[in-house]
Order: sequence, then structure tokens, then C-alpha cells
Amino acid sequence: MRYRVVWFKRDLRLHDHAPLAAAAQDGPVLCLYVVEPGLWVQPDASARQWGFVRESLQDLDRELRARGGRLMVCVGEVVEVLARLHARAAFVAVHAHEETGNGWTYARDRAVAAWCRAHGVAWREWPQFGVVRGLRERDGWQRRRDAFMAEPPVPLPPRIHAVGGSDDLAVLPAACDLGLSDGDAPRRQRGGRREGLLVLGDFLRQRSRHYRGGISSPLTATSACSRLSPYLAQGCLGLREVEQATQAQLAILPPDVTSQRLGLQGFQSRLAWHCHFIQKLESEPELEWRNLHRGYDGLREDGWSAERFEALVQGRTGWPLVDACVAMLRETGWLNFRMRAMLVSVAAYPLWLHWREVGLWLARQFVDYEPGIHWSQLQMQSGTTGINTTRVYNPVKQARDQDPQGHFVRRWLPAMRRVPDAWLFEPWRMPEETQARCGVRVGDDIPRPVVDLDVALREAKARMHALRARPEVQAGEADVVRRHASRAGRREQPARRRSAAERAQQELF
Ligand SMILES: Cc1cc2nc3c(=O)[nH]c(=O)nc-3n(C[C@H](O)[C@H](O)[C@H](O)COP(=O)(O)OP(=O)(O)OC[C@H]3O[C@@H](n4cnc5c(N)ncnc54)[C@H](O)[C@@H]3O)c2cc1C
Repeated sequence: MRYRVVWFKRDLRLHDHAPLAAAAQDGPVLCLYVVEPGLWVQPDASARQWGFVRESLQDLDRELRARGGRLMVCVGEVVEVLARLHARAAFVAVHAHEETGNGWTYARDRAVAAWCRAHGVAWREWPQFGVVRGLRERDGWQRRRDAFMAEPPVPLPPRIHAVGGSDDLAVLPAACDLGLSDGDAPRRQRGGRREGLLVLGDFLRQRSRHYRGGISSPLTATSACSRLSPYLAQGCLGLREVEQATQAQLAILPPDVTSQRLGLQGFQSRLAWHCHFIQKLESEPELEWRNLHRGYDGLREDGWSAERFEALVQGRTGWPLVDACVAMLRETGWLNFRMRAMLVSVAAYPLWLHWREVGLWLARQFVDYEPGIHWSQLQMQSGTTGINTTRVYNPVKQARDQDPQGHFVRRWLPAMRRVPDAWLFEPWRMPEETQARCGVRVGDDIPRPVVDLDVALREAKARMHALRARPEVQAGEADVVRRHASRAGRREQPARRRSAAERAQQELF
């Protein structure tokens, strides 16, 4: 029997699934998901991500069964699994979506392509976002991305002629079987397309009216943001599907519904950023572990402090907003953009930690870990791209702006509930007698800041500016712009081209 293998990876849906549609049109298909032990022991993988994938696989299997198909789940490395299946009954092709993943998945995809070549099996891949493979520079990219998003979704045949499959999904390993001992996030979002569609519908119809103005504060962001990121990261929802559903919602809004219109338009621009950032990693996979602008090599490599890193990871930096964000992340696996950026900025500037280890820790925390967005953002917020404004988020200023009454920090840090309002933002300055009166000991119930914030920020800024002033660093910026910068406006430009006043305005002290 001539059949094709459809290899599901981070595309756990049937809707708008070009590899499946093409295979199902040509005859019987084997729908395969491989639980790869090698993937799950990578330093960016975590139990919470696996928990989300596990639920998504169960949902995918339900969907497939409704169309006469089923999902085969195998545990092993992909090349071995393919070899085993091929020996049992030879298939003619392997179909999959292109994946822009980490270095490990990149090498694994090359190994799969090589195995297919060696065994006379066709290896076919389709894009699933507006990310262009083999792109050398950014001119013309936006046009190609928008054209992809405007195409109609790929239709699926109503019934799938399936081969193989396990009888149930009991074979799905538990996190500990994969060596994931870091524990799930008890209040994370649940996986699966069904959940994803509910979140999408609720956002488009209701919550999007709070998007504009609601996404910056961690208090309002949990409901004002779309919360679609894990569903997009694991492909339970397609990006094109979300983009087109947003367009359709905009089209039916009455003209006087301004807040929702603005919210949906702001959301659309984030969807474009999704592809823009993933394109960077697609074009330059090395940015996962080395500076985008090589002139920044050596900046933080020697300054590693295990003690400062541990304070961050344990949520004991002493800056309440930072520690509350870490507590929320541990529990839910999600944070809004501004708080993610603030965590990285605090790590990069006052704590002076290199972005790679910080990025691995955060990747494991995020249920929605998407390597292309993640590593590009890590570098951007750490100031090593050479083309973005230095954004130094002061955690005390952020707390005053985003959580002025302290509701957020008191929710996540019980000891802060006893701290009087007057000391909310800098509790370490509380006089001894106030500490005794409210029953909170600084250095015990509440950590003392690991470094003096003002001094550390001043030093960090001075180091950055000194490096930026070097002619060889300035000379490298144009090359980064050519390869990676957005052509949509002046959002990403060499740092030196902006005036000092403009720079000062954008630094968030
Ligand atoms: C240091 C750092 C690391 C990040 N790591 C990730 C990650 O691993 N995975 C991830 O999906 N997002 C990441 N982001 C981007 C952003 O914070 C999240 O996409 C967002 O918080 C997810 O919540 P949402 O879906 O409700 O966002 P919404 O605001 O509703 O946005 C909708 C979608 O647009 C995309 N998007 C939103 N903001 C950005 C952005 N700044 N850049 C690129 N795409 C964006 C995402 O796909 C998101 O799901 C990171 C940001 C920072 C600063």
C-alpha cells in the first residue's frame, strides 16, 4: 500500500494544515507524532510545555477520529521511528510543516531530510507562518508575509483514509518519564484546539475592547491580552486563521465601536511581529546562543554571578514587582510583554547577567515558548542587537506606573500585604520601628535588594554607551539592519542615528 506519513510537530491541528491536506488527497495517511526524548532533555524544555502538548495531542486525536483518522504516537528519535515504520511497511513520502525551532530541532530536521534522501522517500515541507525560508535580506519580506496571510485556508477532505495508530493515547509519557522534574505550572492554560478556539472567540468578541490600554499592567493584562500565545506556539491555532478571524471581526464592528476597533488593530500588529521576530531566527539560527551584533561579544560573558542569578530565579531580588512577576510566572507560565521585558532588562542591566542563561530559565517558565520570538526578544531587551533602542526598565518606576496601589505585588507576595502603602515601592527603606509595627523584617520576610539599583543602573548605562561609541561597533550596525531590521518604519535602526534627546526619551528610567 502506498501511503504517506504526516509528521505533526508544533502544528497540532487539522485546520489549514497543508501537509495533511496534500497527503490525504493522494491516498492513505499515517498521522504521526513523535515524543522525542532528545528534544525534552534540552535546556529550554520543561514539564509545563510538555503538559500543554500532551493535552493538545489528546484533542488532536479526538479531531482525527471524528474524520475517520487517528493519531499514532511513538516515543523515540524521529529518524529511528521513521526507519522502524518504513521497515514494517514502506511509505512514499513524509509531509511536515517547516519549523523554526532551536538548534536541536534544526539539526534533527536535517537528519530527517538526509534519511528520506537515502531511502528514496520524498520529504516535503510547507510554511505555516509568514516566515520565508532561505531569505537573505529583509527587502520585500513584508509583502510576502502579507500575501501568505491573505490566502484562503487550505481545505481538508471530510474523511481521512488512515493507516496505523495506537488504540488509545495512554502511551503518552508523563513528564517525569521524559526526565522533566521541574514540575508543572498549576495554573497554566490548558492545551488543545478546542480550548484555543474558546480563548480566540472570547477575545475577539469581548476582551479585545480592553486590549489598548490594558496590556501593559500585569493587573489587567491577564484578561486584556489575547492569551493566544501557547495555542500559536504549539499550532493548535494557525496564525493565518487568527489573522483572518480578526479581520472578519473588524469587518462586522459597528463604526462607533472605537475601543474594540483600536484593540483589534493593535492586536493585528502584534501578529505581524510574531512572523517578523521568528524570521530573524530562521535567517540566523546562531542568534539563539551568540550576540546578533558581534561587537557586543565580551560585554557580559565574564560578569556572571551565580548569586544574582539565583536571587532572580527564586524571586528574591528585593524589588517587589520583579519578585511578584517571578511568582506569577512559576504558578501560571505566562506574563505580559512589558513584564517579560522588565525581567530581562533587570537581569541584563542592574544584575549584569548574560542573556543566554536567563533566556533558558525563562524559556522553561513560558508555556508559550517560541524560540524565534524568545531569543530575538532576549537579545533586544539585553541591548545586544545593535539596532534597537536601549530599553532599561527601572523596576521601581514600573511598579509606580503599572501597579500604583500594590494590588499585584500583594497578590503574589504575601509578606507585602503587611507593608504600609508608603513603603510599597521601596520596602527595604522601611525604618526599623515600622518593620516592627507591621511585623515584616527586611532581609528576612522581604529580601534586601541584591544590588544598589541606582548605582548598578548608572554603571550598566556607562558600559553600554562606552561600547556603542566604538567605531567598530558602529560599523557593524548597518549589516544587522540589512539582514534583520523591519522595513515598516523606523522601529529598528542603528542606535547611533538617533539624537541624544530621542534616545533619552525612549529609555525608561
Ligand atoms: C523577553 C521576552 C521573551 C518572550 N518570549 C516569548 C515566547 O517565547 N513566546 C511568545 O509567544 N512570545 C514571547 N514574547 C512576546 C510576548 O511577550 C508574548 O507573545 C505575549 O506576552 C503573549 O501573550 P498574548 O498571546 O496574550 O499576547 P498578545 O498581545 O495578545 O499578542 C498576540 C500574539 O502576537 C504575538 N506577539 C505579541 N507580542 C509580540 C512581540 N513583542 N514579539 C513577537 N510576537 C509578539 C504572539 O504570538 C502573541 O501570542 C516574549 C517577549 C519578551 C519581552
